[in-house]
Amino acid sequence: MIARPFRLRRVVLGGAAVVAASLGMAGDQPRVTSLATPSGWRQHDVHRPKPAVVEPAPWSLGTPAPPDAVVLFDGKSLDAWKSANGGSVEWKVADGAFTVAPGKGKIITKETFGDIQLHLEWASPNPPKGTSQNRGNSGVFLMGAFELQVLDTYKADTYSDGMAGAIYGQYPPLFNATRPPGEWQAYDIAFRAPRYSPSGALREPARITAFLNGVLVQNGETPVGGTSWLEAVPYAPGVSTGPLELQDHSHPVKFRNIWLRKLPERIPATEEERREPKIVAVSTPELDALAGTYGGGSGSNALQIVVTRQEDYLLMKLPFRATPLRIVPVSPLHFVLPYTDGGLLFEKDAEGKPTAVQFTIGDGSPRTLKRTEK
Ligand code: MG
Repeated sequence: MIARPFRLRRVVLGGAAVVAASLGMAGDQPRVTSLATPSGWRQHDVHRPKPAVVEPAPWSLGTPAPPDAVVLFDGKSLDAWKSANGGSVEWKVADGAFTVAPGKGKIITKETFGDIQLHLEWASPNPPKGTSQNRGNSGVFLMGAFELQVLDTYKADTYSDGMAGAIYGQYPPLFNATRPPGEWQAYDIAFRAPRYSPSGALREPARITAFLNGVLVQNGETPVGGTSWLEAVPYAPGVSTGPLELQDHSHPVKFRNIWLRKLPERIPATEEERREPKIVAVSTPELDALAGTYGGGSGSNALQIVVTRQEDYLLMKLPFRATPLRIVPVSPLHFVLPYTDGGLLFEKDAEGKPTAVQFTIGDGSPRTLKRTEK
């Protein structure tokens, strides 16, 4: 049978440009839907440039699990894992490592994770066997969805987006930093899970930063979807956690020293904690009265602040900044920085003339500076 050519049509789905490819068979119904790679390269294009070969960093191996880590393999037990087919893991542990049992299927962690820092070490079979994708292939699937490729690409060729260090099918590694087959290699990965709006719409794609053997190979890349051979799986609405998964690609790849750290969510300020300045009106004569130079301390502790009026607000010039900063009044004598926790609290004498100012930034103790000149 002569294959009929693909016909491509560009559609927009969920805000992302998508190329739907029809095989032109089965009543002309589309059978394959692929997400376009963000670079414009088609997946696995052999013409895509190859990354430069660089030296691995010597310090990347053997990083011990920190006390707060979730240890997924300590050299002895695969208790943290289960077979993705159900049942216990049939991969074998020996000499502080474990090996893919070809044909027994992938394994996944019992626990699921969202944002993580992951350390993992792997070694390609030695002596090497096979070529291209058939040479020491396995993979680390973050959230069970996004594959960081494990492959013997030491002096061995394959398409760039399938090399070790690639986000498979989407982002080639920035460098080829692989070690020879049989030698241990290390992945250090920072993963930010996708975020969704309450309605389930994708608000933020996943983000992957990865070091292979201490060399940055993925710099905050955003997968267009989950990994699946010859396509990319669209984001599953609302899914922000998943197991860590190791691939059985029928090659006896070894793994050891696997641990991760769960990453906390950054906590936004509540309405109450925002404490945005409630600005009050201060007249121009009042502002002019506060303008002047204030100073105190001596030697390395000396500090001088110059306050000037510009139009209807005050500027504060600090000695260690090139440009003055605008300060806004929250009371006739208290002026704060709009976005920084700090500012100036002026003091007046019995006649109402400014005599000093208290300068505060963050949690530092206030510095009282005397007015030295108008
Ligand atoms: Mg793989």
